[in-house]
Amino acid sequence: MNQPTVMMAELTWPEFAASLERDPVVFLPTGMLEQHGPHLPMGVDHLLPTAIAAMIARDVDGIVAPPLNYGYKSMPRTGGGPGFPGSTGLDGATLSATVRDVIREFARHGVRRVCVIDGHFENLWFINEGIDLAMRDVGGTGLQVMCLQHWDFLTQETLEDVFTEGYPGIELEHAAVLETSLMMHFYPALVHLDRIPDNAPMEAPPYDIWPARTAWVPDSGALTSAAQASAEKGALMAAQYRRDMTAAVRRELLS
Ligand code: ZN
Ligand code: MN
Repeated sequence: MNQPTVMMAELTWPEFAASLERDPVVFLPTGMLEQHGPHLPMGVDHLLPTAIAAMIARDVDGIVAPPLNYGYKSMPRTGGGPGFPGSTGLDGATLSATVRDVIREFARHGVRRVCVIDGHFENLWFINEGIDLAMRDVGGTGLQVMCLQHWDFLTQETLEDVFTEGYPGIELEHAAVLETSLMMHFYPALVHLDRIPDNAPMEAPPYDIWPARTAWVPDSGALTSAAQASAEKGALMAAQYRRDMTAAVRRELLS
């Protein structure tokens, strides 16, 4: 039987049950509902991992679980913070508990290989905690879980091709060249080209403070200019992700 789709939510239960016989990698995209400037939709942080996961899953005959599309709270220095309408954060314990529950359920179905692909900077340690607790829950069942944030796969060579004016670092790359280019590649219909912001980089001190200082954050919500974004740069990053993430998944989970 040919599997009709890699998307778990689109499979019937007998199709999913049949797919488990080949011991597939199940990808879990994680993200956030958060402002991404005036030109990108608020779902960027889960839309990109979902597209990336589907791309890798097709190469390794895997399955993509529905994304966790809420994430840990937006911080001013990395996502613009909570001051924008729509940025909708979970408490860290809620995110950890959700990751833990979902992975434990997958293991109960017989899944033994999971790859979490995250797209929201602030999520990482709460996801790691959820994975670690799930591993403790399931004990010695052979479950293996890999976890990555997609931009960590970008090589120096790719960064030099994409950031012709220098890479500002992932913290400032919110709604800027990296995410805008990848969205232009994977979801061109969702990018408002006529609203791409060209503001100066955010200048913030090297600390956080509560209540959040909204004055630190550029009005656009983009933490630096997105003017140099292009679909070609998105395609370049996607091709490198495909090559290197597929290799890492094969090496760690399928060999
Ligand atoms: Zn983002
Ligand atoms: Mn984010």
